[in-house]
Amino acid sequence: MNNWNGYCHRCGKESGSHIMSMFNTESICMSCKKEERKRPDYKLAEAKDLREYAGRLRGYGMETQAANVEVVAADLQALRDLPPGVERCLTYWR
Ligand SMILES: [Zn+2]
Repeated sequence: MNNWNGYCHRCGKESGSHIMSMFNTESICMSCKKEERKRPDYKLAEAKDLREYAGRLRGYGMETQAANVEVVAADLQALRDLPPGVERCLTYWR
């Protein structure tokens, strides 16, 4: 996130806060992130990202943490088929 210059890489608007895109290396504003979360493949991308993170943890010898992260990744992937209402609750909870 060190390439942030105060403007969203996606929409170009000035923004006080930013977050990394789940699909590429862009730093994006919160409204772009909100749109991104609506993508049907978002949870899969998030699960993939978490699995990579788990791999890095394992590389540091943090086996327990890696296993915990993998559980969350598996949950995310399984959520794809839940009814929209349930998914909204979980999104809110997170
Ligand atoms: Zn934006």
